[in-house]
Amino acid sequence: MKPSTTHITICRRCNARICWALTTANGRRQPVDAEPTAAGNLAVMQGPDGVLYVRSVTAARPDIRPGEWQAMPHHATCKAPPPRRSARTPERTTVGVRPVPWQR
Ligand SMILES: [Zn+2]
Repeated sequence: MKPSTTHITICRRCNARICWALTTANGRRQPVDAEPTAAGNLAVMQGPDGVLYVRSVTAARPDIRPGEWQAMPHHATCKAPPPRRSARTPERTTVGVRPVPWQR
């Protein structure tokens, strides 16, 4: 299987052909390479709703089912990945703890 051309888009950073898929684990959007590869650790399939879904190929579920194809996460192959967030904004330890002013 391959992604249908309607799902293929271009990575804004490196102009590679990618498609956006929703992770079956938590419904997050994840870019995957449009070109299937047997080396990929993801299995992508088009759901009945026309949306692409992606799951990890794990040792527990290594089989690729009918309708699925293997692909690489684009994060792994992007030639111009976004800068590491930690480099710009050092991790804050006070997240979620808002100081409350004393009131009399
Ligand atoms: Zn890219």
